[in-house]
This record gives sequence, structure tokens and C-alpha cells, in this order.
Amino acid sequence: MALALTGSKPMAVKSLQARILGFVIGLLVAMAMTVALAVWFSTSNHSNEQIDSNLGVAESTLRQLLSNREEQLLSSAEVLTSDFGFKQAVASRDKDTIESVLHNHGERIGADLMVLLSLQGELLTSDTLDINTPFNQDFFIRSTLNNGGANDYLLINNRLYQVILLPVKAPLPIAIAMVGFELNQELANQWKAVTGLDVTFYAHKDSNTNIVASTLPQADWDNAISHAYMPNAAHTLPLIARPKFASLKLDLSQANTNDTGIFLSYLVENAFREFDLLQWRIFIITLLGAVLALAGGILMAKNLASPIHILARTASRIANGEFGLKVNALRNTREINDLASAFETMQEGLAVREARIMHQAHHDPLTQLINRQHAITRLAEHLDSADYEPIAVICINILDFRIVNDTFGHVVGDQCLKLIAERLTTVTGEHSFAARLGGDEFLMAMPLTRSRELVAENVQALLSSAYRIQELEITLKFSIGVSSAPRDGTQSEQLVQKASIALDMARREHLGIAFYDQQMEETHMKRLQLLADLKSTLSSNDGQLQMYFQPKVKTGADATFRFEALIRWIHPAQGFIPPDLFIPLAEQAGLISNITDWVVEAVIKQIAQWKEQHFTAQVAINLSAKDLSRKNLLDSVHLLLERYQLTTDCLAFEITESEIMRDAQQGIELLNRFRNSGFDLAIDDFGTGYSSLSQLKHMPVTELKIDKSFVLQLDQLADDQIIVKSTIALAHSFNLKVVAEGVENQQSMDLLSDWGCDWLQGFYLSRPLPAKDVLGWVADFSSRQQAANH
Ligand code: C2E
Ligand code: CA
Ligand code: CA
Repeated sequence: MALALTGSKPMAVKSLQARILGFVIGLLVAMAMTVALAVWFSTSNHSNEQIDSNLGVAESTLRQLLSNREEQLLSSAEVLTSDFGFKQAVASRDKDTIESVLHNHGERIGADLMVLLSLQGELLTSDTLDINTPFNQDFFIRSTLNNGGANDYLLINNRLYQVILLPVKAPLPIAIAMVGFELNQELANQWKAVTGLDVTFYAHKDSNTNIVASTLPQADWDNAISHAYMPNAAHTLPLIARPKFASLKLDLSQANTNDTGIFLSYLVENAFREFDLLQWRIFIITLLGAVLALAGGILMAKNLASPIHILARTASRIANGEFGLKVNALRNTREINDLASAFETMQEGLAVREARIMHQAHHDPLTQLINRQHAITRLAEHLDSADYEPIAVICINILDFRIVNDTFGHVVGDQCLKLIAERLTTVTGEHSFAARLGGDEFLMAMPLTRSRELVAENVQALLSSAYRIQELEITLKFSIGVSSAPRDGTQSEQLVQKASIALDMARREHLGIAFYDQQMEETHMKRLQLLADLKSTLSSNDGQLQMYFQPKVKTGADATFRFEALIRWIHPAQGFIPPDLFIPLAEQAGLISNITDWVVEAVIKQIAQWKEQHFTAQVAINLSAKDLSRKNLLDSVHLLLERYQLTTDCLAFEITESEIMRDAQQGIELLNRFRNSGFDLAIDDFGTGYSSLSQLKHMPVTELKIDKSFVLQLDQLADDQIIVKSTIALAHSFNLKVVAEGVENQQSMDLLSDWGCDWLQGFYLSRPLPAKDVLGWVADFSSRQQAANH
């Protein structure tokens, strides 16, 4: 697409209004042009014909006039030639008489020229001045004598005459009389009156055309003669650059060498007057139409475009989240009306959907309580008012909720959460609300109408009665952390954080309810500082962390040892930090895998070093729950073993019972992989979790470690004795070896040995030892054992 577009320019975006106007005007002009062309063709044909017929009619009229005139002139000339006195005078060459007769006769018939010629064509007498016209006398005379008369036109002294020649007979021809009538302006005017056309008399002389007389002003002569349209079957009148005149040329000369004639001229304009007028009308109508169309187009475009503008503006307001807007557009067009209605319907849809999205964004889908973010917002709204009621922020955590999920399944777990949410909502009011912070944590905000202790206890009481789900009765325990405003702060986020610090404290110290105080914050900060220190010592490996090894001794005569690797942290400022403090911290902060990696490497290095000193003993490493989800852990262990040329039987792993149970399926998978690689596996702290006998059967473990809480006072507590004894029997029935940890005295050791416990671990045998002390202890213990055996 992008490639295809690179060559072409982006399409110009025109407004709808401009498009409509363009279209309307274009259409109108095209229509007007078509009409104009049609009219043009038909009328110009018509005009052309009109010119032709006008000229034709005029021509025949003129020809008629000419022949009439000829006859008339002839008969008046005959009167002269048949006059006896005249004949006699001619015969006697009586010049005076001839002249007087010619003169008188000429006057009578209104002739302009009276001439008597000899039969040889010589001028005998004339009433006019000097006539030496070079006409073809010979032909003239001959045709006169042969035909008994002749008619012709002569240019004499630049005047054009129609001349009649008749022989004077006595009885044979003795002379020729010539009577001439001038074709002058007056005649031209007369003929113009008859034919309706302009009349021009001309004569050629020495290849010049002389205009003798014309009804046209001299300025037009050229137009009427040289540049005129001459009707001719082959040509039509040109439409563009029309000539001014259409002229018809009538040739008059017959015998004369001079070319003489008449031009009949028709003012072309006259023929086209109607046509031009029509053209103008069309033009004006088109112009008027265009103005009207423009107005109509503007109106129409307004009708269409302005609602679209309004719709567009409405759309962008909708995009900004305004809903329920009425579309105030002109709705008199069906499509616009439909569109406007669709806009309104769309808004309803959008409003519903946005409400749903808002709800989803603000609510927890399972319990329908608001979520953390929204809770913080609502709390902030409450705290924003100048005179807000003091309010308690209560963080609630379900203790061991994972176990509920693992034992009864997620459906029951979800049901529990819903019921908790329901109970919490029963106490919410105008300024109080409940929220789910995630997982098994809830939050309540309640006005402090009573002491914060009472409010918190109230919530605890509300939650602690049993939950009935599908025939089950589940009792849950909760940790509650409380902060309050304005006592602990006035920022909503800060209050929630303080409540959760208090909750943390409640959980760690196994308190039901904890109230935030400054001290807690300090502890919290200290823990954060500790974490930061741990992180830096892990990455720098500066010797603060060390591995200690606590022996596990096999019961019976032979002195066989194994060790449990236990980490020690000697902080440069705070000294010894117990693992029970920083291990859970590291687990919470996601740092435990770094610790495990560090421990695994340190332990393997140590085993390799011992191996060089010809000492071998299996060392057990403690794994955390998070380690069980690390797919690459096993690979890195293998890699290290390979690097130090060790086999898998030198390592074992311990995982606490409750940690395996957290994610039983995934945990068991990884343990299976460890087991299949040949590592011994132990369930640590057995008895503190909830594992059932049937679950135990599916665990890919080789060993069970009875938790030290059952062993420490074994010699004194009958209950512990029952538990430990039966656990040993149970483990053995599953083919598991049993380790008792926390053996602190001889009596406990004896009891355990009697019950068949396989391995013993405890301060009575040895405290955890730094690596350098291990070999010494081994030698010492072996010699003591030998002494005892003897
Ligand atoms: P644990 O795995 O149950 O380790 C045994 C704990 O019991 C050790 O405490 C050990 O010193 C203590 N103990 C052994 N015998 C006796 C006895 O006779 N009397 C008494 N009172 N205590 C005895 P320690 O070393 O403080 O470790 C505490 C816990 O820290 C361990 O419990 C283990 O859960 C964790 N931990 C220690 N090192 C590591 C480690 O490298 N990795 C991991 N993930 N956890 C570790
Ligand atoms: Ca352990
Ligand atoms: Ca243990």
C-alpha cells in the first residue's frame, strides 16, 4: 500500500459544499452549451438560407427590372429612329437639325446620353461632351445592324450608362442612334427601395473596380465587394468571423470590353439578428440559471453540510466522553435524520459500554467489590473535604487461604471470597466501602464512629463465623491491619500502605489485629534496608554470607554422617541475622532464587574441597517454594556438579511440607525430575502443614523430617511422643526414611532410636558448624562413637 501511494499525490479534500456547487454549475453550463450549440446550428442554417433566398429574390427582381427598363428604353429610342424629320436630317447630314432633334428627344425621354454614330462607328453628333470610349465599336455596330438594335453598358467619363443602339433606316441603315441612361445614385436608391438590398454599380477599368454609385457608404464598399460572402452552393457562410455583407454580383456587360455590373448586398447581420438575440438570451438565461443554481446549491449544501458539521462536532464531543447529547442538526433530510438518530443510539450504546468498562476498570470481577486503585480514589475523595469524618482503613488478609484452595478446590475458594465480600458490604454505608486488593486481601474504609479497636474487632467478628459452601462449613482466620486518618496521615495512598504495613506485622507476629504505629514503619524500613543489603552482598559475594553445616547422624552402631547446609549472614553493622528473618524476607522480595543459586554453588564447592581431603558426605540443601517453579534450577545444579566432577548422590534437597502443598502439581513435577536425576529428597518440617496420608503417597520423596517443634521437648510431652512415634511408623509404611530434627538431649535421642527413627539432627549432636570445623567434629565424633561401642 505504502509503495503504491508514494507516486501519487494525496487526494485533495474538498468540502461537500464545494462539490455540490461544482456539480450543479457544471451541469447547468453543460446543458446551456448543448442548447446553445443546437440553436446555433439550426439557426445558422436558417440564417444562411434566409440570406440565400433574399439574394435570390432580389436578383430575379432586379433582372425583371432590368429587362423592363430595356424594353422601355428601346421603345423610347425607336420613337427617335422612326422620326421622319430626324431621318431626313441624318440623311442630309444636317448637323444642326440632328443636334436639335437629339437634344429635344433626349429631353423628352429623359435620356442622359444622345449620340449619333456612323455605320462605321464614328461619332457624328453628341449632345454630351466628348465621348471617346474605347468600346468595341465594330462588334457593337455589327450586332446593332444584324439584330436591328443592341443593349449594353458603357463607362463613359467614369459614369456608367445603359445604352440602346438602333439603326436609323432610310430605309437602309444610314447611321446608328445611341441613347444612354445613366446608372447613378438615384437609380441605385430606387432599386434599393424595390429589392430591399443595397445596390452598388461598378465597372472595371484597367483592372480596377470602379464604384460608380452605391447605396452604401464608401467605408463599406470594400466589405460589400471584396470581403463579402458570395452565395455559392459549395460554400456556406462562415459562422465565426462572419463577413459583414453577403453580396450577389450581376454581370451587365454584353459586348463591351469593360466588365460592368451590379452588386446586391445584404447586411448579414440582419439575417443573424434573431439568432444573435437568441444567443444572448441563452447566455443570459444560463447566467441567471447559474446564479439561481448557485443559490440553490449553497442552500442545498448548507442543508447537507451543516448537519454533517454538527454531527462531526457531536462526534468529537462524544469522543471526549460526553454522552446523551441531542444532535441539533437540521433533520429535514431522511438520511441526515437517520444518521442523527444513529448517533443518538450510538451514544446510548457507548454510554452503556463505557459504564461497563468503567465498572470493569474499577471493580474486581469475582466479588464485584471495587479494586485497589478505585478504593484509593474514593478514599482520597473522602479526605478531600475540609471537614471529613475521621476514618479507619482496614487491610484484611485470609490466613492460609491457599490451603483452602488446595484442599477444596478453586470453586470453593472463589465462593469463599464472594461470601467474604458479601459480609463486608453489609456494613458499608455512605462513607464506608469495601474493596478487594487482590488474591486473599481485602480493604475496608469505615468512619471512626467508635474507637478504632472496636471498629476493627467488629470487622473481625463479622468475618470469623463459619462459611457454608456446598455442605461444607469452613472457618477462616484473618489478619487485620488498621491505619486511620487523620491520626496516621491524610493521603489515601499512604493510609492504605500504612494499613498494609500493620497487616504485615499482624501476619508476621500472628496477631489477629495490628494497629499502625511509627515503630512499625521503622521496622518496615529496616526490613527494606536489610533487603537492599542482602541484595548487594549476594552480588558482591563479600564474605558476609557463609554456609554452616549441621550433622545428621544415623542411628545404630556405625557412625555415618550427612549434613544439612544452613546459611549464615553476618551483617557488618547488625552482626548475626537469623535465616528465619531474612529468608522469608527474601522470599517476599523475590530474592530467594539468588540465595538458592548462591547456596548451591557454595555447597558444591565445599563438597569438592572435602573430596580433595578424602572426605565424602551427602549435604542437604533447603529449597523454597519459589524454587519449585524454576525450570532451569535442575540444569544449573547438574552443570555445577559436572564442573566439580561430582555425582548426584552427594547432594540432597529439603522442601517444607507446606511449600510443596502450595502448588502441589507443579511442585511434584519438579521434585520428580530431581528424583529421577538421582537426588535424595526430604519433606522438611513435617507435621506443621496439612498434608494428608494419601498425598504423602504421591510425593516423590525419600525422607521425611519431623519438625523440631515435636522433638524439642519429646522427653517431656506425651502428646509429642504419640505424634512422633506414629509418624515414624507411618513414614516407614510408605518406605520413607525418617529424620528427627531438634534433638536436644539424650532422652529424646534414646526414644527416637527405640522407635526406629533413621537419622537424628540436633544441638545435642552438634550445632551447625562452619565448614572449617566439620572435619574436626567428624574425627572427634567417630572416636567418641568407637569408645562408646567398646
Ligand atoms: P530448617 O530447614 O528447619 O533448619 C533447621 C533449623 O533448626 C536450623 O535453624 C537449625 O539451626 C535448627 N536446629 C537444628 N537442631 C536444633 C536443635 O536441637 N534445637 C533448636 N532449637 N534448633 C535446632 P537455622 O539455621 O536458624 O535455620 C532456620 C531456617 O532457615 C531453616 O529451617 C530453613 O528453613 C531456613 N534456612 C536456613 N538456611 C537456608 C538455606 O540455605 N536456604 C533456604 N531456602 N532456607 C534456609
Ligand atoms: Ca531444613
Ligand atoms: Ca526443619
